[in-house]
Amino acid sequence: MPGYDTERFISKVNEEFVCSICLAVLKNPICDACEHYFCEECIHSWLGATSRRLRKCPLSNEEISINTLKPVPRIVRNLLGRLELKCAFDGCEKIVTYNEIDHHETNCTFNPENNVQCEKNCGATLKISEIGDHDCVKYLQLIVAELTEKVDILKAINESNRIEINETRKLCSATIQEVNRLLPMLTKELSAVKNELSEIRRNLGPVTQDKEKSVDMKRQSSIKDKVEYYERAGKSD
Ligand SMILES: [Zn+2]
Ligand SMILES: [Zn+2]
Ligand SMILES: [Zn+2]
Ligand SMILES: [Zn+2]
Repeated sequence: MPGYDTERFISKVNEEFVCSICLAVLKNPICDACEHYFCEECIHSWLGATSRRLRKCPLSNEEISINTLKPVPRIVRNLLGRLELKCAFDGCEKIVTYNEIDHHETNCTFNPENNVQCEKNCGATLKISEIGDHDCVKYLQLIVAELTEKVDILKAINESNRIEINETRKLCSATIQEVNRLLPMLTKELSAVKNELSEIRRNLGPVTQDKEKSVDMKRQSSIKDKVEYYERAGKSD
């Protein structure tokens, strides 16, 4: 039933506001070509269920179509909007206006689809339908078990981190010791190599100079030879 049950209204509802398809008070009212009012959902399913040839107003039998449906006059919306009705959910005593009812029911704490906090403040969030079976102690025991499990996991992670840190620390100090042990020896070796190198340089110095000198002389004599050759060739012309 898409409309609102007439029984829920505080005062008797004018028949004009009752949908002749669902026989309840119009919800999202819509007007057909012959000015009858229906719930939008009701007239859509009425027209959708019949074949194109048989699309007729359920009241006047005149041919109608979804395309010719239009909004109801403003006065109808205003009069409907002022009607007062009870909330649909068991346990809720609220009476609200037609305009407010959908918003109220969506947020109503008695709406079985909505979540509520346990009244005893155990921290549980429950659906209305779960309240009957809810036991604060059992709920808290479950939470404690979950937390204990999390703490155990954290402890294990912490322990494995501690072991890893210790191992790294040991490795570092062993490396430092080894470096300290080798350092004097390496320093001594380095200075010996340095000495040897400068010795080699000293011995190498004169040899290199001699070599350069002999290369220069060779080059000079070959130039001299060439000059003499051309001079001779010039004379013979
Ligand atoms: Zn209806
Ligand atoms: Zn009609
Ligand atoms: Zn309510
Ligand atoms: Zn509780």
